[in-house]
Amino acid sequence: MAFASAGDADSEPSSQRMSEEIRVFVPGVWLVDLRDADMVFQVCQKCRTKIDMTTKECKKAGTGCVTIPADEKVVLTVATVADFSGTFRATIREHELLTFTSCSDVAALEALVAEIGLPGLAFRCRADIVLGANKVNVVGEYITPNFEILQAKPSLLAEWDAAERPAASYVYQTGEAGERVVGGMDNVLMCERRRGTRGVRRGIPSE
Ligand SMILES: [Zn+2]
Repeated sequence: MAFASAGDADSEPSSQRMSEEIRVFVPGVWLVDLRDADMVFQVCQKCRTKIDMTTKECKKAGTGCVTIPADEKVVLTVATVADFSGTFRATIREHELLTFTSCSDVAALEALVAEIGLPGLAFRCRADIVLGANKVNVVGEYITPNFEILQAKPSLLAEWDAAERPAASYVYQTGEAGERVVGGMDNVLMCERRRGTRGVRRGIPSE
């Protein structure tokens, strides 16, 4: 995988599409933290960017977009999830956040946040997740996959490493495949910390 501009001094953060998508199945994780208090928000119907609740303007208002609020609300933030081996941060959207918080819909989620606050959303449901990344962020020498929680399925006490719920066991780096490491959140952390693109190649259970 080539990152032509990655080594440039003072380079601006940029996003690049990966030649090969990473998918990682991680069984039995808890939601332990969420980044944004305003994780449920309105977007602009025209440009789909977030509308600032104070100014009522979308993020592209400065470049000429006339903000029109869309009817539906968007749920988007960064979640910290954890298992026995460590923690990991990834983008989370509506469906997966409802699973982790055991809420039936967005209105129930908002009511829960209003009632008990953001920290109260942690440790409500243990779930098997699929993390995915198809882009990397490039800041100077640092290249990190942009992970998102693509699936979350409640699983409090399921059999460990069963056929339909495999524990991660194989980590590869593009261009350097072959290194084996025992699974868990640590493997995913290595994806972030080391230069290059790492992932756990393993069967991803279907829904
Ligand atoms: Zn707009």
